[in-house]
Amino acid sequence: MFTIEDLIKATGGKLISRGKEEIFQAASIDTRTISENDLFFALKGSKRDGHDFLNEALQKARGAVISKKIDLNFQDKTVVMVDDTLKALQDLARYLRKKFRGKVIAVIGSNGKTTTKELIASFLATKYKILKTEGNFNNNIGVPLCLSKIESDTEIMVLELGTNRYGDIKELCEIVYPDYALITNIGYEHIEGFGSLEGVRKGELEILPFVKKVFANGDDSFLIEGLRDFKGEILTFGLNSDCDYRAENINFYDDYLEFDFCTDIASFTVKTSLTGFYNVYNLTGAIAVATFLGISKCMIKNVAELFSPVKMRGEIIKINGIEVFFDAYNANPSSMKAALQELARRKKERKAIAVLGDMLELGEFTQLAHEEVGKWIKEMGIDVFIGVGSFIRNALRYVDGEVFDNPQRAGEFLSSQLKGNEIILIKGSRAMKMEIILDILLKEK
Ligand code: ATP
Ligand code: MG
Repeated sequence: MFTIEDLIKATGGKLISRGKEEIFQAASIDTRTISENDLFFALKGSKRDGHDFLNEALQKARGAVISKKIDLNFQDKTVVMVDDTLKALQDLARYLRKKFRGKVIAVIGSNGKTTTKELIASFLATKYKILKTEGNFNNNIGVPLCLSKIESDTEIMVLELGTNRYGDIKELCEIVYPDYALITNIGYEHIEGFGSLEGVRKGELEILPFVKKVFANGDDSFLIEGLRDFKGEILTFGLNSDCDYRAENINFYDDYLEFDFCTDIASFTVKTSLTGFYNVYNLTGAIAVATFLGISKCMIKNVAELFSPVKMRGEIIKINGIEVFFDAYNANPSSMKAALQELARRKKERKAIAVLGDMLELGEFTQLAHEEVGKWIKEMGIDVFIGVGSFIRNALRYVDGEVFDNPQRAGEFLSSQLKGNEIILIKGSRAMKMEIILDILLKEK
């Protein structure tokens, strides 16, 4: 929520017309989702220019921020002219952040950010008025849009910050100025932009000069090593006994998992329907933040038990006796390995089928990373491998299987092979559209 004065002060923009409404609920960049109380920022993307949608935006919303002259005449609406609309959106967000007196938690790392952010937000919402980044909106547009929604009674913000090259995290921190960071792990993500695991770590740790406290995965020794020179406080979470917040006595059941969350002074049992070993980390990290901010053990237990997987990230879907482990939101080598481990763990007496799409943005590591996937499938005793794409063909070096050019054909093949008692993992990079395979299975139900 912000006023016209906030906007002018923050951006130095020129007021071209002043509408009758002086307060805006949120900034928006999309006329399909804009609300009447919003202010439209006409951003120029690679394909489209927001200025082409101004007519619609001004009909629907309270005003617009523009960088090009327009002929439209909306006298009762606010129009502000700036040099650069994206910069103006970011300047507004920074300005609102600086006025905000509550705490800001940034969730960063290679894998598990969205899940951990949603968990933290759910825990904290039992006691505080929170604001969180929506879905996966973790870049230099999505994060400022979130900040435009700060309200006078907002107490804590939980923000996912994403990166695919150097400078991203620094740029975001110079908008959100986080108080605390939670770092999930350092893994093989966006190698195209970073070049190596060291590069990923360097990019993520651009956050350190901004924060006074870090919650870090204590089992990720590469991450912990990178925190050596950090001047603030480090609180670790994980499985090893040196961690400040530990998961102990972990037990997996068919539909849920259970573990003891322990610190040196307290311990309680947490049960959740989240699957996947990696979710023990996401939960332990999120509970660490929640306990630090005073959420009671009773609330934590309740929320953990009711929490369901974020869409497309480790959902378990049952179709006529077949179990689908649907993890098709995205894929990189670390999350691919974690998902295959989960498939192997859940397999039991059943036939396990891995339907895997290409992992993108791996640059020169592409071939090797996909060969590794073949090795893992073999080592973990997965029975059937079906690939989608071209890079994933490299897996065939270590394991037999069928590879298709597109998810449609892979789905039809998969469906023709099923007897009714299999367990299937579906995973691949976002652009591979692996959800098409699930749709085919559901249709043939
Ligand atoms: P993105 O980079 O797409 O924003 P993210 O970091 O937000 O990803 P999530 O969306 O929470 O991560 O999870 C994406 C996938 O990563 C999951 O479906 C799962 O396969 C894997 N994953 C989640 N948490 C972890 C973890 N702690 N360690 C390893 N892999 C994980
Ligand atoms: Mg995410």
